[in-house]
Amino acid sequence: MDDAAAAPATSSGPYVEDRKPAGDADDGGGPKSRNLGILRRLIDLVRPHKARFALAVVTLLGASALTLVYPWAAKEAIDAGMKSATSAKLDKIVLGLLALFAVNAVLVWLRHYSMSWLGERVVTDLRAMVFDRVLTLPMQWFHERRSGELVSRLASDVTVVESVVGSELSMALRNGVQFIGGLVFLFVINVKLTLLMLAIVPPIVLVTLYFGKKIRRMSREVQDQLAKVSGQVQESIGAIATVQSFVREGFEAKRYRQGVESTFEKSMTMVRWRSSFFATAMSAGFAGVTMVIWLGGRAMINGEISAGQLTQFFLYTFMIAGALSELAGLWAALQRAAGATDRLFAVIDTVPDVRDAVKTTPLPDGGGAIEFHDVTFAYPSRKTLPVLTNINLQIAPGEVVALVGPSGAGKSTILSLLYRFADVDQGRISFEGVDVRDLPLAALRRSLAMVAQEPVLFAGTLSDNIAYGREGATQAEIESAARDANAHQFITGFPDGYNTVIGERGTKLSGGQKQRIAIARALLANPRVLILDEATSNLDAESESLVQAALARLMKGRTTLVVAHRLSTVRDANRIVVIDNASVAEQGTHEELLAKGGVYRRLIEHQVIGENPIAT
Ligand code: ADP
Repeated sequence: MDDAAAAPATSSGPYVEDRKPAGDADDGGGPKSRNLGILRRLIDLVRPHKARFALAVVTLLGASALTLVYPWAAKEAIDAGMKSATSAKLDKIVLGLLALFAVNAVLVWLRHYSMSWLGERVVTDLRAMVFDRVLTLPMQWFHERRSGELVSRLASDVTVVESVVGSELSMALRNGVQFIGGLVFLFVINVKLTLLMLAIVPPIVLVTLYFGKKIRRMSREVQDQLAKVSGQVQESIGAIATVQSFVREGFEAKRYRQGVESTFEKSMTMVRWRSSFFATAMSAGFAGVTMVIWLGGRAMINGEISAGQLTQFFLYTFMIAGALSELAGLWAALQRAAGATDRLFAVIDTVPDVRDAVKTTPLPDGGGAIEFHDVTFAYPSRKTLPVLTNINLQIAPGEVVALVGPSGAGKSTILSLLYRFADVDQGRISFEGVDVRDLPLAALRRSLAMVAQEPVLFAGTLSDNIAYGREGATQAEIESAARDANAHQFITGFPDGYNTVIGERGTKLSGGQKQRIAIARALLANPRVLILDEATSNLDAESESLVQAALARLMKGRTTLVVAHRLSTVRDANRIVVIDNASVAEQGTHEELLAKGGVYRRLIEHQVIGENPIAT
């Protein structure tokens, strides 16, 4: 692959699918250039395994060349049998053939083994490449897709690539060698007969191309439909409690059934075309062979070729007819694979727009100074509708700022922009005095830690979950963080202590316990800025006070940005920033804002902020 193709492209979107279309039959590029593009990408994947590939190709060529010997041996045997009464020459031919069989067996073993090895290897690399890339993609990319779709791509699209590299390419090469080799022998035997035979080949090829193109398009539709249905399943299962509590099992079942039925119909349309394809290609092939038998028979009757040569001619013709029809089938298979491969490379080639600048500025020391300067932002999916307009905000190191505002006002968006989950459209956000776009992304994000409303814990032990905050944390550090987060006591209360497994099949934690684990995780990360998304749901009083105490410890000496709903939090904040209608409506202390009688006061009166705030 040329490196130019991998260079980042500029785009106004959050990410770009940085690729020239490999060419598509349906939109003018032609299947040839598309397949060549894909072939080139596949070769890139194979390149690191040159030695295996060379072994595979050499053994493949050797084994394929050997199969060309058999028709020749048959001719020798027949002609020898017709000329002499002794079987000496026949014996020799048979012995030679046996030796060739033995060599062939070794070659076939090596060929099959190394080709399959390559297929498996490439698939493993590809899976890792896709997932590596996926992990770095911007949030927006995930919002636009269902996770099930992605899982399906990793599972089924990658398997299609495996079958191309592991078997179809090798079959294509083998049949290619047999076709060309057989043809050369045919010309050597009799030029006229060969030319006549060839007159029927182009029509077969044309028919093949026509069907191949149609089948490829249909197969793509089937794969897309299947990915859609998988997404649906993932969604239903992920939300199974909601499904069952609303008694929507019937609805979900029906939706799924419709999805799979529609896949079935699409598959069947494709199957009909494929069946016709095979039937037509086979009939054309057999009609050709019948013609050759007729012409060859006449040539022998006229004394132009010997009986042995006629047999040899037939055998080679069968060989190349078989090779050609297999090649045609492989062509269709390659078309099918092209769709799958294309989608995978589309993921791999997606270059996130949010990435390190060419030249980054090292993160200066500091205590977490944040500034939003005239920030305007709209989500790419709704470009014309700014979610934030001209936001100006200065947060000093160590300050506790409460962001409040009605639901949908843009509070979470402010936090996402600070994280650089997306970049601002206009204006600038600086951290420690440097534009966040100039900072190394990892350094920026490591300086921030979020304790979300619904903390996300991974399947694994409690230790693992706390240690997620910092790679390489020691057990002593983990326990110290847990102590500070008021989590040590309940953790040691479990029989397995820190090794208690949580997650799908493990222990379930209460809301307050989960939050304290998340706080321990954030403590371990030791960030400069703490980002809190305050829960609106009520914890029981005891949990609540434990969580609050842990939070207070976590906030000490750090800049804190909190999306606040509780009156107590808002009162304790150094400053309250009210976001409304995509901009900063007012800011100040609780008393100042109350006295003002603006948006803030209304939020309090409507209990959006309160002792028991209603969810916004
Ligand atoms: P808040 O946190 O104040 O409730 P958000 O920042 O979540 O508000 O949302 C602000 C606005 O942006 C809302 O109108 C919401 O619908 C919209 N929004 C949020 N996320 C996205 C997204 N990924 N794509 C498009 N619009 C979004």
